[in-house]
Amino acid sequence: MNEAKEHPTTIRQRKPAAAADPVPPAGHADLAALNPKTTHYEFMGPHGTLLPVVGLPFVVAGLFLLCSPEGCPPAPLTDPAALWKHVATAAASVEWFSADAMTAVAVWFGLHMVLPLVLGGKVAKGSPLRNGQTLSYPINGFRALVVVAAAMLLHTRQQGLDRLVWIADHSLQLFTAAATLATSLAVSLYVSSFRGTERLADGSRGPVLLSTTGNSGYPIYDFWMGRELNPRVLWGSIDLKYLCELRPGLIGWCLLNAAFAAKEYTTTGAVSPAMIAVCVFQGYYVIDALWNEEAILTTMDITTDGFGFMLAYGDLAWVPFSYTVQARFLIMFPQQLSPAYLALICTINLIGIWIFRSSNGEKNDFRTNPDGPSVKHLKYMETKSGRKLLVSGWWGAARKINYTGDWLMALAWSLPCGFSSIVPYFYPIYFAVLLIHRSQRDDMACRLKYGADWDEYRKRVPYVFIPYVY
Ligand code: NDP
Repeated sequence: MNEAKEHPTTIRQRKPAAAADPVPPAGHADLAALNPKTTHYEFMGPHGTLLPVVGLPFVVAGLFLLCSPEGCPPAPLTDPAALWKHVATAAASVEWFSADAMTAVAVWFGLHMVLPLVLGGKVAKGSPLRNGQTLSYPINGFRALVVVAAAMLLHTRQQGLDRLVWIADHSLQLFTAAATLATSLAVSLYVSSFRGTERLADGSRGPVLLSTTGNSGYPIYDFWMGRELNPRVLWGSIDLKYLCELRPGLIGWCLLNAAFAAKEYTTTGAVSPAMIAVCVFQGYYVIDALWNEEAILTTMDITTDGFGFMLAYGDLAWVPFSYTVQARFLIMFPQQLSPAYLALICTINLIGIWIFRSSNGEKNDFRTNPDGPSVKHLKYMETKSGRKLLVSGWWGAARKINYTGDWLMALAWSLPCGFSSIVPYFYPIYFAVLLIHRSQRDDMACRLKYGADWDEYRKRVPYVFIPYVY
């Protein structure tokens, strides 16, 4: 799957996963064949998923509580007792809930449910489903970003920065509101997945299509993985999973960063180069994801995983409130960066973008047309499955070099925060664990897919992430 919020996975052209969910003969009436039981478990098995369900909200809340203007845990974390005392004191002194924040999050969520319906643009078809249907998706996420950015700029021009500063000052309450919304949504989705029938894309009614990964019969496991594949509301016009996947969370991430930049400006009279670097690097990432929105239609999130707590919480609470830890850190602990250090960070980010984009592009081009001009010079090996594996170019240098590029970008987002604390490095640390785990899962999947040919490929390309190192 997609580990917790492998989110930007979503974001970043993940491998097409249509093959994971084969299309059985159309018109079959056997419910068990339509919705097979999940028998293969991920995430520590059917009971182990209780851990992320309970733990993820604490992780994000912890990121808020660990740092206050009085201090932030140094690197490394040497005194767990002192740390715990620090967090417990902070938890008792902050205001967790506010009615205004609840309203703001509800309005934000509502806005992103309505915008896709009114912004027009291309309508794309998803992968064919097991029930023989094909769903349509509005591709106008980038327009939604432009509308929000224009509204924010217009409002700021007319009314000043107060609204943005309010967002920065209430980010914890906004997080608890978003977490409450995500949890309520996940509970509602789980319950409604038992309703029996749904309106199909052709207007008729048919059995609710369940995900193949979240139909185990273990409530906590299915709640986490997501039981229903494509929950839709308003007569099928709003696809909840698709609309939550990129828009409220990713655009919210940018809005929060803008709010922290506004806060810094009103406090110090300027926006620091460190803050600008974080906002620009992450802003590029979000723009890229929304510009290429159609690419998510072939990701596992859309084709295979149900819409449950993992995606709902990840999309609405985890991404916007844990990925903004760097900008939040910078308003508490401003950093003076030398031009040379800033240039180094920009270089690391650009190298990351280059590796990430060109390696993913090379494989996509090769998979689309192996004789295309950009890839016809590359060497490949034949396999018994009939598919070819690249053994030169990026994919001959290391088997997961695309992950390396991705991780370099993640590192560049944290480096502007200096080295006084480990907290702003949360994302690259979490992401490294995620990518190592994911590379092992993909290695196993390819071993099953290609058999002995995969062993041969591993011999020819022995490095995983960094050529001649690992
Ligand atoms: P990859 O893009 O790495 O694709 C893996 C697949 O590529 C394999 O299963 C195999 O599938 C094919 N492949 C592997 N080696 C070769 C080769 N030598 N030649 C041709 N094809 C090959 O998988 P992901 O979906 O995990 O990652 C895509 C991007 O998304 C990455 O850049 C990653 O960093 C990013 N990502 C981001 C996440 C986040 O949370 N931010 C989370 C996960 C991923 P087949 O042979 O069937 O084509």
